[in-house]
Amino acid sequence: MKKNDIIKIKITDMSFDGQGIGRDESGRVVFVQNAVSGEEAEVKILKVLKNTAYGKTQRLISPSESRIEPDCPIFHKCGGCAYRHITYEKELEFKTAQINNVLKSIAKTDVRAKDTIPSDFTEGYRNKALFPVSYGENGKIVAGFYRKRSHSVIPCENCVITPAEFIKIRDFVVDFLEKHSIEPYDEKAHKGLVRHIFLRKGFHTGEIMAGLVINGNTLPCDSEFVSGLLSLNLNVKSIVLNINKSKTNVILGEKTFALYGENYIEDAMNGSLFKISCQSFYQVNTPQAERLYEEAISFVDEGNDTVFDLYCGIGTISHCLSRKAKKVYGVESCEPAVKDANKNKILNKKDNLEFICDLAENAVFKLIKSGIIPDTVVLDPPRSGCDKTLIETLLKTKPKKIIYISCNPATLARDIFLLKEEYRLSFVRGVDLFPRTAHVETIAFLELEK
Ligand code: SAH
Repeated sequence: MKKNDIIKIKITDMSFDGQGIGRDESGRVVFVQNAVSGEEAEVKILKVLKNTAYGKTQRLISPSESRIEPDCPIFHKCGGCAYRHITYEKELEFKTAQINNVLKSIAKTDVRAKDTIPSDFTEGYRNKALFPVSYGENGKIVAGFYRKRSHSVIPCENCVITPAEFIKIRDFVVDFLEKHSIEPYDEKAHKGLVRHIFLRKGFHTGEIMAGLVINGNTLPCDSEFVSGLLSLNLNVKSIVLNINKSKTNVILGEKTFALYGENYIEDAMNGSLFKISCQSFYQVNTPQAERLYEEAISFVDEGNDTVFDLYCGIGTISHCLSRKAKKVYGVESCEPAVKDANKNKILNKKDNLEFICDLAENAVFKLIKSGIIPDTVVLDPPRSGCDKTLIETLLKTKPKKIIYISCNPATLARDIFLLKEEYRLSFVRGVDLFPRTAHVETIAFLELEK
């Protein structure tokens, strides 16, 4: 097989980023854009490597019954959504299958995931957006989304999973930058000012934070920027500048200044109120995250337990845990998030919460050394999963329950495999926080083997 060949392929599986997977006659794995499990397609080969190849669908020989017409004109180019061409029911099936695949192949367990919990909202559900800003092909400023597997910005008039207010604010910002000839940031040359537009909206409060990530200290005409944003009448409560002068593809810098209001907005989750500042993590689909947290705490015993909430962010899960536990220790490495967590503890008058700013792997070691032993541990790490030393400490300390929330089934499965040395995996379930994208949240419950 070589580049530009057109071959017939039966699609038997889906990849983690929503591509179809099949095999050529020699058994080589072929990843096929715009093909779905169960379909047969004529595929144009784009790239051939030793054991794998990449191609795109030229013609569907037997289209899946789950196919629908994508409702976004840039669906096939944009790196955001992976599943606008199939029904939501089929997407959920794929997500459950994806979790089950790694449970079998990586965690090496026979436990299978319960059906993935669907999101009530599949449109406009994202409470946060980051639009990269750049010059478009016509020399005009664009703020859109990254093209798939690239850092070139493609314009988008609308975005189905983003609230309408965000699009209005983005369009205002682009006009403002054009009007004042303020340059977008150029990644390669490390020049220009405006890197990203940052937007966040409280699902329950409707409060909006609007900000710019800039490669500099100030924004020209900032008072006009503020008055212009406020005149949109969109419940903008906070306008911020985040300073990022580093040559990096990490989006946010370490300093944030409020041009209007405070460097936070408020939102509610599971009955508690939260201040959320720009740099702090906050789950993007609020009602579905509330469901995820309720599911997580359903495994916690009521009464006298000491619980560690590791990777706790602004303390959203800690607050839920505080209802059932005697004492909750939240650990988080991002300093602004820990500051928010401490403010939120006061805001909600919680006196059984304590937050520690440290790496989870270090803090747990220190807590245990000082005689604070957890009965239950909640883990909610970033995509890379838990540090191996943390897993080792847990295996030695043997808390009776581990509740593991993960945004990456593969690293979850890797860590479950390690934890199986002392723990029995008794429950796994996907909770779909990211409809139409390739991502899925998973919750796993592990109990200490007797
Ligand atoms: N549980 C929170 C946050 C989950 S996101 C919520 O549901 O909102 C993962 C969090 O882990 C982020 O806030 C990130 O800053 C933090 N983090 C990343 N690596 C870490 C580490 N090694 N130790 C502690 N926190 C870490």
